[in-house]
Amino acid sequence: MRRIMLGLAGVAGVAVVAVAGLGWRAAGSGWDPPALPDGVVDVAPDPDRLASSLAALIQLPTMTPVEEGAVDWRDPGVDALGQPVEPAWIRLLREIWLDGLDATVSQVGRGLAIRLDGPSEAPPALWLAHVDVVPVSDPDGWTHPPFAGVVADGVVHGRGALDNKASIAAILEAMRLLQAQGRAPSRDVVLLITPDEEVSGATAQLAASDLSLVGDPAFVLDEGSYLLPDLFEGVLVGAVAVSEKTFVNYRLVARGEDRHSSMPQPPSAVDRLVAGLDRIGTWDTPSALPAPLIEGLRRMAPTRAWPESWVLANADLLEPVVRGIVQASPAGNAITRDTVATTLIDVGVKDNVIPRVAVANVNARLRPQTAPDAFRDAIQARVGPEIEVTVDGEWAQGAPGRWDTPLFAALETVIPAVAPGAVVIPSATPGTMDARYFAAAGLPTHRFHPFVADAALRASLHGTDERIPVEELVRGVRFYHLLLQVQ
Ligand SMILES: [Zn+2]
Repeated sequence: MRRIMLGLAGVAGVAVVAVAGLGWRAAGSGWDPPALPDGVVDVAPDPDRLASSLAALIQLPTMTPVEEGAVDWRDPGVDALGQPVEPAWIRLLREIWLDGLDATVSQVGRGLAIRLDGPSEAPPALWLAHVDVVPVSDPDGWTHPPFAGVVADGVVHGRGALDNKASIAAILEAMRLLQAQGRAPSRDVVLLITPDEEVSGATAQLAASDLSLVGDPAFVLDEGSYLLPDLFEGVLVGAVAVSEKTFVNYRLVARGEDRHSSMPQPPSAVDRLVAGLDRIGTWDTPSALPAPLIEGLRRMAPTRAWPESWVLANADLLEPVVRGIVQASPAGNAITRDTVATTLIDVGVKDNVIPRVAVANVNARLRPQTAPDAFRDAIQARVGPEIEVTVDGEWAQGAPGRWDTPLFAALETVIPAVAPGAVVIPSATPGTMDARYFAAAGLPTHRFHPFVADAALRASLHGTDERIPVEELVRGVRFYHLLLQVQ
């Protein structure tokens, strides 16, 4: 790789100058989005109703994992007469949307499938959203209490506002408004709301293992990317993540003699594990630009001035150079690389006993083309024979992703209709979401949220002061309402 880099030194110089000096300037949109088909209509959602609906969802602290001793909000309870009562989140959805919707509602595992029928015989679209949220580590650090559902200055605040209750609110409101216009979706659509995406993904896994539970869909739309205002200066980018990585855990076990700590005889199990983990932490793991990203950069080329346009248009030929630029950001580094991170260490019984066994969990996020078993061998080679490396648990093999799909074509039409000037590109995501199970089952899966989210807003996801501007919610409803008619 180094030799190629030297060969491209001149090109690298151009690219570096492009980033540092001349600066990725916009040269017009360079891309004419396809027009909306005849007969497709827009809608004007009520921002107040949307904000208060989302606030009500936020006020239900649907947190996973469910802590020990807490009422498990995912399970139906019983009322005073001993009759089963649905979970509070399902009752709330019925109250706000489902009771007034002409839809077939069914339980899938602990989740809920909401199906709207269209005139087409084509298999349905499957849309995913999740109602569970991650816990809050520091509630005092929030501007507004995380589960109060405060709406202030045109922004809805609270845990789950962005991830992922905004999707639920926007999709159900879009369905409601479409029916209020006396219209049906162009094809059947199933919205699967899962209550366990942030933990096991068991509901999505169940549906993906028996696709008839969700109507044998043709393709899947999930969360996982946004309208990005800060990726390329001056251009709003609708980055649709079409591929996902493989989430897999490895168990590392080091052994030694258990001895009194007054008479150490290194190396102990701990010494061996620490040495191995150090090699994991400093590992320059394999990397390459994913194919969807190369295509995405190529599509951005017409929006840039020379020489940036030339570099982007030739991202495949200049792969090492462009990859170097992409890898400058943590997210860019993550989508191009097999990543490894030590996340758990289990060692020791007492302060004066040198333990016999030391165990660590290494969480890997592998590029779709990397096989988890082959990567086990790579970890083994990296840490050496004194540590035993095994794959821990199951995984859903990531898919490289495709963008020659009817859903991608629909997104190319609908995204610019709600975000004028936006350029729609295929991309990849470093995260994992429910869609992975459907990708592993062979379905085309795209991940996109129709909300403009800059770096600060994206950082609030799983972080402090999670929020969403009401105007983005409105955009979201318009997006899903159009997509219902176009997909
Ligand atoms: Zn999420």
